[in-house]
Amino acid sequence: QTGWIKELEEAFPDMRMLTKETQVQKQSKDYFWYSPVLKEELEGASADCVCFPASTEEVTRLLAFAADRRIPVVPKGGGSGNYGQIVPLYGGILLDMTKMNQILSIDGDIGRFQAGIRLGKLERELRKQDLELRFFPSTLMTSTLGGFIAGGTGGIGSITYGTLWDEGNVLGLTILTMEKTPRVLHIRGGELKAYIHHYGISGIILDVELALAPKTDWVDGWAQFDSFADATGFAEHLARSDIKKRVVSVVEAPVPAVFTGWEERLVPGKAAVLYQTSPGGLEEAAHAAAVHQAVHTGSDASSSIRLSDFVWNHVTLWWLKKHPGDTYIQARFTPHSYRQQIRALQKAFGEEIVFHLEWIRAGGMLVPSSQLIVRYTTTARLYAMMDAMRDIGMRVSSPHTYLLEEGGKDEWVEKICQAKQQNDPDNLLNPGKTKGTQPKEEAACLYSG
Ligand code: FAD
Repeated sequence: QTGWIKELEEAFPDMRMLTKETQVQKQSKDYFWYSPVLKEELEGASADCVCFPASTEEVTRLLAFAADRRIPVVPKGGGSGNYGQIVPLYGGILLDMTKMNQILSIDGDIGRFQAGIRLGKLERELRKQDLELRFFPSTLMTSTLGGFIAGGTGGIGSITYGTLWDEGNVLGLTILTMEKTPRVLHIRGGELKAYIHHYGISGIILDVELALAPKTDWVDGWAQFDSFADATGFAEHLARSDIKKRVVSVVEAPVPAVFTGWEERLVPGKAAVLYQTSPGGLEEAAHAAAVHQAVHTGSDASSSIRLSDFVWNHVTLWWLKKHPGDTYIQARFTPHSYRQQIRALQKAFGEEIVFHLEWIRAGGMLVPSSQLIVRYTTTARLYAMMDAMRDIGMRVSSPHTYLLEEGGKDEWVEKICQAKQQNDPDNLLNPGKTKGTQPKEEAACLYSG
């Protein structure tokens, strides 16, 4: 056993820890297996141990312990990321934050929550107080708030409120630095960009101040179409309408066939639009679906099956369950020319791409954002598809890299790296996840304990 683990156990006798190799390896994985590229690159990478601190004081002492001995630390929430964000590339401590899960305060429509709280639990608690999250990822039940902010983008609700980067959603973060004497930083305003989608490399999020929305009793709706073009027409109509809505998602046939549990809702061979509106919006939405030639429609106001399990990257998950050799590409279409872009991809790649998109608001603009299913053959073909998408003006966020700057969020990487230099001078927080912070080989030896 690594020498420092014994020291750690002695220094933290009351903290839950996992040190058994099989358990630690299991905890060191996220959903990187969606990507055939990452599957190969990350297989076998693992922490040396997993720690579950339960208080700010324990996290602080743990970081001080690790900084003092130059042990890498990788923060972890629910482990539902897709790019190997939580996979430790150089061993060390996997810092599971899920015991830091308290609601600290709710004041009007602003709440402060510890980073390890699961979003599903948070949404449930908020609804009891006639509030709800502005938006959440489709991994509602597994994701933590801190993990979503450090590794996610947006989700159900983003059609109204935008993404994590849009002003007014994330209001403040309490950050702990990775130093021998860790500092507590209270981050607000423009500085937040250095900690959103930062893979935990520039600091540990302790708690989050979040803007909330008033609760709505959402109703699930669905409409199916003979042609994908009609489905996208209806989806755009709904997205741009004044109807109060939380999500508008479009999938091409044969995707509905893989939605296990929805057999009674959807016809397998037709394109589908899944949406949630307020009760008052349902009639207008159904009327618009009819205008766009819907051949099958339905709604459910008291659903026991969460619609969020069938949108965003859950679509890919359902598909991969039936087609384990396939993969996906994340990309945003250009709002005014997305139909031409879809046609260009259909022409170039035919049935190799199965279309799936959600309308979201980003930077104030409504955008069709997509997780396109790829009938995978070779890595070269996969990269050719991403190149073709860039060539026609789409913004690709490659899910086939663990490097932050290659994932398509490049505008903020410089800010994140600057904060990292100040907060983590020895590059111990999730090392290797940016080009500039890949430890040199000799330094990596230091980490091995
Ligand atoms: P983790 O995977 O545990 O961590 C994510 C990153 O955050 C890691 O780099 C980790 O080191 C860092 N981190 C975690 N906690 C902290 C902390 N306290 N301080 C600092 N850094 C921290 N994403 C979306 O944006 N929208 C979606 O709708 C969506 N749908 C998905 C559907 C499926 C089926 C899957 C597998 C993934 C989906 N994702 C989606 C991606 C993922 O679920 C989100 O990024 C998610 O919110 C991550 O939360 P988590 O708690 O699981 O984080």
